[in-house]
Amino acid sequence: MGPDVMKNAPVEAAPGDVPFLSLREVNARYADELKAAAARVIDSGWYVLGDELVAFEREFAGWCGVRHAVGVGNGLDALSLILRGYKELGVLGEGDEVVVPGNTFIASFLAISENRLVPLPVEPDAATFNLDPACVEAAIGSRTRAIMAVHLYGQLADMPALAALARRRGLLLIEDAAQAHGALRDGRRAGTFGDAAAFSFFPAKNLGALGDGGAVVTGDVALARRVAALRNYGSEVKYRHLCQGLNSRLDEMQAAMLRVKLKYLDADVAWRRRVAHRYRDGIRHPRIKLPGAVREEQHAWHLFVVRCAERDALQRHLRAHGIQAQVHYPVPAHRQPAYPALRSARLPLTERLCDEVLSLPLGPTLGDDGVARVIDACNAFGGGA
Ligand SMILES: *Cc1c(COP(=O)(O)O)cnc(C)c1O
Repeated sequence: MGPDVMKNAPVEAAPGDVPFLSLREVNARYADELKAAAARVIDSGWYVLGDELVAFEREFAGWCGVRHAVGVGNGLDALSLILRGYKELGVLGEGDEVVVPGNTFIASFLAISENRLVPLPVEPDAATFNLDPACVEAAIGSRTRAIMAVHLYGQLADMPALAALARRRGLLLIEDAAQAHGALRDGRRAGTFGDAAAFSFFPAKNLGALGDGGAVVTGDVALARRVAALRNYGSEVKYRHLCQGLNSRLDEMQAAMLRVKLKYLDADVAWRRRVAHRYRDGIRHPRIKLPGAVREEQHAWHLFVVRCAERDALQRHLRAHGIQAQVHYPVPAHRQPAYPALRSARLPLTERLCDEVLSLPLGPTLGDDGVARVIDACNAFGGGA
């Protein structure tokens, strides 16, 4: 790996630092169970599309409260295969527009454009950073066929309003739930509000594999079957190809790892809520803006994101106190070289967020001492003065 690639690699904290998230510590908690599950897979002699995957799909669908889950290679493929599945089923067609929040991870956009659909970025709600139903409605045109709601940072978008809007305007509603395992509204979990939802099991997500993984969840049996075929060369029966699929399967090893970790997901999300509560309680600084309009007990707290006009100075200040904070995300999709066609988009709030957001350390192994150090360091920030 060259130095440019390494820049994207997670940085393990120096001794005594408060890490942004220590995956080593996260997985060490159940290392024995993970190793036993890995041994079970190794000994089975069956590594792709087997019993572990079937069991995980059943268990994850049950946990979410949806009928079907289809394990795929990663979160981007999960999103992309939902759109591709709907194209195959004739619900979407090339050139159709999909409304998407301007402030999201690039994968939400890539899934749309790689299907030769057109991303229609809109501004977020200023308090929650999630889709604003009024902005969505204003963006809908004659070619608009779908809304992709991203549950950014682990808080559900306004799904009742978006579902009503989608129904009224005859649009698909797709959830990018890659950050929202465990987010709730009215007792229902992320993944149960739209026509279909995509989850990522990237190691740093609330439910993370020990490698890449993803899942499509849906109550739509026709879509579930089509995605299951698409991920496996377009095949339901070996050497019979219903459509031009690809190879994007959740392998047996990752499914086995995820089955172990799913058992602890509720406890992990509860711990994240506890950390977030302490941050919201303890951080008091006139220039550090805490997450707004939060339903604390329904938020899955994938990230705890504050806003600060002097964001870079705050990040350096925390760094000097041994605290790792990260930026999600520094450059919006419409300002990326990858999307020259979107360069004329006017999304001032999205752009301002990119300059001001900072994610504080958060994870299921962040202890009380670490939380207290983050709070004290934030409160001691002198800023640009
Ligand atoms: C992580 C993430 C994805 C992509 O998931 P991968 O498994 O990394 O491909 C998509 N959307 C959002 C909002 C994400 O945070």
